[in-house]
Amino acid sequence: MVPDIFHRDFTPTPYWWEAYKPSADELVEVPRAARVAIVGGGYAGLSAALELAKHGIDAVVLEANELGFGASTRNGGAVSGGVNIAKSFTGKVPDIDPGRLRSMLSDGSDAFGLIDRLIEEEKIDCFWEKPGRFVGAWAKKHFAWQSQRLALLNDAAQSGAYMVARERQREEIASDYYFGGTVVERSGKLHPALYYKGLLEACRRRGVAVCAKAAVTKIARTGNVWRVATSRGAVSAGDVVIATNGYTGELTPALKKRVIPIASHIIATEELPPDLTRSLIPKARTLSDTKRVLCYYRMSPDGTRMVFGGRARFTQVDATVSAPILYRYMTARFPQLRGVKLTHAWTGNVAFTIDALPHMGERDGLHYCLGCNGSGIAMMTYLGWQTARKIARAANYACAYDTEDFPDHPLYSGNPWFLPVVGGYYRLRDNLDRLLA
Ligand SMILES: Cc1cc2nc3c(=O)[nH]c(=O)nc-3n(C[C@H](O)[C@H](O)[C@H](O)COP(=O)(O)OP(=O)(O)OC[C@H]3O[C@@H](n4cnc5c(N)ncnc54)[C@H](O)[C@@H]3O)c2cc1C
Repeated sequence: MVPDIFHRDFTPTPYWWEAYKPSADELVEVPRAARVAIVGGGYAGLSAALELAKHGIDAVVLEANELGFGASTRNGGAVSGGVNIAKSFTGKVPDIDPGRLRSMLSDGSDAFGLIDRLIEEEKIDCFWEKPGRFVGAWAKKHFAWQSQRLALLNDAAQSGAYMVARERQREEIASDYYFGGTVVERSGKLHPALYYKGLLEACRRRGVAVCAKAAVTKIARTGNVWRVATSRGAVSAGDVVIATNGYTGELTPALKKRVIPIASHIIATEELPPDLTRSLIPKARTLSDTKRVLCYYRMSPDGTRMVFGGRARFTQVDATVSAPILYRYMTARFPQLRGVKLTHAWTGNVAFTIDALPHMGERDGLHYCLGCNGSGIAMMTYLGWQTARKIARAANYACAYDTEDFPDHPLYSGNPWFLPVVGGYYRLRDNLDRLLA
């Protein structure tokens, strides 16, 4: 323990769980049969089930743990209009056909529209706001790279993006840390666990069986019928959707070797004095930066605390390891926060893919939506929705993420032993970029 940064009430659980804590509630019995069985009860699984229910198709959601155990109640709550795609944590823009890239950005923009609509239609009380995002340039040359992407973002994703020079940066953040940056107006923020709770309630209102503590252990097909075995009994289903993202395991080895689970970590401060809270992020936007190993942060929904995240390590580590690192990153940006105490620190898994793109599709007859690449509140909600519409034969346009090409890598079989080395390498590259800027 590093006692001077931890509040006496410190807990190593998400701040968001103060409002909704993942729970198994009263266990819903696993039905013997359903038209569609969905593996994984995060945003993707629930959004798929909800859309299926709207088409009169009965679905069961099978969740191995408590409802909301995965990344969906642990994230930073920053919602992008899909503009994060096409840039992996390596900072590299993948080599995609420009037409396909535009379609993907356009779908990303639709994902933002979907979440906006869902929250309104289902009356989800989750502090949903659209104040925009500021992405700080970590190095001088990053500012130039950001400038070059503006036209594409505005054209394909209607991002409302513009550059802010370093001299005007204090209009966005009470810090001189960055070399200017980009504002993306079409971005929002929410309380991730309350959004999750709202989706869950919407599913329940439509009679969807959402089964906690029902780990799927085996999936086998006989003719047109799938038999999905769980720790609490088996379900027969016509279609199966895999929505396990950063928690994809041995159940689906062909998918496991296509996603790399990477840990992301967050800290939340104690309540700050009012003059500080008002000044830190004057326009109440969400913030992130152009580092390969990026940081992302925002004020809490009630505006009283800093909620600060980043890949302090690429693997799951104890809060005693991750929190001091994030604290250092936070106070480097905001020296005025030196001395404040942390009340929460937590971690969760995101899923990166070899081509740094989200994917949906079918493999061996199983539907999947996987690979948020770090930004999945809108995107995984959207891919679940798109998968449901595909099953319901209601999709009125082809989703740009629905392709047969979901690459694996000859040197990766699903065990990400290399992550600490890769993390160290990218941190070094980040530092060099800044030094040589
Ligand atoms: C710390 C952190 C910060 C983040 N910040 C942001 C952010 O600010 N903005 C943003 O857009 N995104 C962010 N993300 C990403 C976002 O949270 C995820 O993309 C999104 O929640 C993924 O939803 P999902 O439904 O695909 O997966 P999850 O919510 O992870 O759910 C997958 C579920 O599958 C279950 N499962 C696995 N195997 C089985 C099995 N065999 N049987 C049954 N169930 C199984 C797991 O228990 C898990 O609950 C962040 C993620 C983390 C971890």
